[in-house]
Amino acid sequence: NELLLEVEDLHVEFRTSDGVANVLNGVGYSVHAGETLAVLGESGSGKSVTAQTVMGILDMPPGVITAGAVRWRGEDLLTASEERRREVRGSEIAMIFQDALSALNPVFTVGFQIEEQLRVRLGMSKKDARKRAIELLDTVRIPAAERRIKDYPHQFSGGMRQRAMIAMSLALDPDLLIADEPTTALDVTVQAQIMDLLGEIQAERKMGLVLITHDLGVVAEVADRIAVMYAGRIVEQADVVELFRAPAHPYTAALMDSLPRLDLKGQTLETIKGLPPSLLDIPPGCPFHPRCKRAEARCSEEVPPPHGIGFGRTSACHFAEEVVNSRA
Ligand code: SF4
Ligand code: MG
Repeated sequence: NELLLEVEDLHVEFRTSDGVANVLNGVGYSVHAGETLAVLGESGSGKSVTAQTVMGILDMPPGVITAGAVRWRGEDLLTASEERRREVRGSEIAMIFQDALSALNPVFTVGFQIEEQLRVRLGMSKKDARKRAIELLDTVRIPAAERRIKDYPHQFSGGMRQRAMIAMSLALDPDLLIADEPTTALDVTVQAQIMDLLGEIQAERKMGLVLITHDLGVVAEVADRIAVMYAGRIVEQADVVELFRAPAHPYTAALMDSLPRLDLKGQTLETIKGLPPSLLDIPPGCPFHPRCKRAEARCSEEVPPPHGIGFGRTSACHFAEEVVNSRA
């Protein structure tokens, strides 16, 4: 399948009054058409900032891109004109967010917001735009679309708003959708429905999907590949089956051990000790070493670069091979 997005060695700092926060420290991933990449990490690990950099919506300043490339079908977006970036945004790469209320404009009807994109960006007539907007609401399974299209965002439930935002993101028929914690604010049942919907839409349209989440549980069912982020780095990248079979990084292993399992009754869940580091003061060597059960002396001195360990996997641990073998 076609290679759509390539993020390469991306470095981003935030220059704050407290000093320089090293928010991204060499992030790289790629997404092909028809593929779902889950980007997994705790809050502050850099998953949203990476997405915002890809979309060209990073707040600059305080954000500064100090190195790296974002290639869209081979074209570097970081050096592209603002006009070209606006073209790509929405019509080729679209993004949805955790909070649909902030993405939707409260003073306009849901229908108007979808139709406006179709009229302004695609030059559709009012009538055609209305027809297409109703189709889009149908696609995301909003019942009685012809009536609900005249509602304002606040008249929708949380789940329906999320569907409306998905409909809006599909209006220009993007090839890649970036979903930043799209279900985090919803209750569990609605979460599952929205994830199913995203999965179906992705498969039907053979879109690329980047699913940003802090929830390893969500990832297993929908992702083809997973990139695990920690302190502005990707510490492990693997096919989902391989990763669940045996993690190749102690951080991934720790995340898995803190996941409740249905097949183990009366288990004690292990939590990861300590907190993620401050990005103003990332520990030397492996950034995970103060929390790592496997750490050795070398870990606080040498930064482990991501390296291939077979099956298209990478791990940024000095002992990746041992870790994966011990868990297999
Ligand atoms: Fe742990 Fe060392 Fe591997 Fe880092 S490099 S994850 S500290 S074992
Ligand atoms: Mg975030």
